[in-house]
Amino acid sequence: MAKVVCVLYDDPVDGYPSNYARDGLPKLDRYPGGQTLPKPKAIDFEPGVLLGSVSGELGLRPFLESAGHSLVVTADKDGPDSTFERELGDAEIVISQPFWPAYLTRERIAKANKLKLAITAGIGSDHVDLQAAMDRGITVAEVTYCNSISVSEHVVMMILALVRNYIPSYQWVIKGGWNIADCVARSYDVEGMQIGTVGAGRIGSAVLRRLRPFDVKLHYTDRHRLPETVEKDLGVTFHSDAASMVGICDVVTINAPLHPETENLFDEAMIARMKRGAYLVNTARGKICNRDAVARALESGQLAGYAGDVWFPQPAPKDHPWRSMPHHGMTPHISGSSLSAQARYAAGTREILECWFEGRPIREDYLIVDGGKLAGAGAHSYSAGDATSGSEEAARFRAKA
Ligand code: NDP
Repeated sequence: MAKVVCVLYDDPVDGYPSNYARDGLPKLDRYPGGQTLPKPKAIDFEPGVLLGSVSGELGLRPFLESAGHSLVVTADKDGPDSTFERELGDAEIVISQPFWPAYLTRERIAKANKLKLAITAGIGSDHVDLQAAMDRGITVAEVTYCNSISVSEHVVMMILALVRNYIPSYQWVIKGGWNIADCVARSYDVEGMQIGTVGAGRIGSAVLRRLRPFDVKLHYTDRHRLPETVEKDLGVTFHSDAASMVGICDVVTINAPLHPETENLFDEAMIARMKRGAYLVNTARGKICNRDAVARALESGQLAGYAGDVWFPQPAPKDHPWRSMPHHGMTPHISGSSLSAQARYAAGTREILECWFEGRPIREDYLIVDGGKLAGAGAHSYSAGDATSGSEEAARFRAKA
């Protein structure tokens, strides 16, 4: 029987909800492009409830315990004395969400002698040292597509919020003001702007589709070019790399995974290539942008705004400069963890577990590492290596609380 360790974010400060703003969720038949939604044999939760926090347990406890497995759920994930690190030694399966990532560094993997499967309940497995997982023969799987549309909606919201100066205007209302000039002195229309995405996979292309009706000019760069028909349909221009695209754009959105090729891609030099007063929206991973270069560019005016929901490390320490830099629209890492997305990634996690326990193959689309190499979605979109270095700094969040 397997020991499963599941790292989830804390419950709400007022306790686990007993009721919700809405009743149920819209029913989706399939993802755009035809991929089917997760299909576990059964689920033990009501879609629309909070599943991603500790008490939600991704709805997994009845399923695992009735089959004789043990489940440890914790939010205490950082530092050598954390519950996660203590429980890791005899765990066969670790489940973690990118929003509150249980960093599986090479050192932790070395201590986890029995670890065979690391599941990302969400998308983006860069919190796992993928090279170390390959070297140890650990399978890494994620729930591809589960929250791609959720994130694309967040990206569009953030672009509009920055360009139209929504957040400071909202704050004037809260402060009791009616300061129209203060609000509009940084407010523009999106119409007519040049908008480019780094990465045109599931999220990036959904962002392009959602932006098209705003009468903007669209651009993208990706390792693989989209089919000509799709490019024509979206009216989008391909660029061979980010460096050659960003100078044209008023808004750049980053929708590529974090791997050695994209780590620190938006450094001082890349940001200097952007138009003065451009906006940068990054919901992909914090480490794709250089932390201090972004803060400096906002202070100098090179960037007019920066928004996103991804940081490094997570949770970000209280003194992380992205909390206090000017003209930002940051949220904690939430875009892919709407109640709608949670229902899909909880079901996808269960599907992966059912396959694992029954010895059935995990969907190719869900695999990142398998059999000692990048596999499935991982082989398509990632490059080998490790992007976890520096993650121990996450322990400072609780230490300073
Ligand atoms: P996809 O795999 O569908 O798309 C990623 C795209 O990025 C692929 O088309 C890939 O290219 C491309 N890419 C990879 N490397 C580069 C590069 N060096 N330059 C340009 N493009 C590159 O994934 P999703 O769209 O679903 O998700 C993208 C990322 O967004 C995830 O990896 C994750 O990090 C992040 N994410 C964030 C969430 C949040 O809550 N904020 C939730 C979900 C995802 P190709 O495959 O053609 O090689």
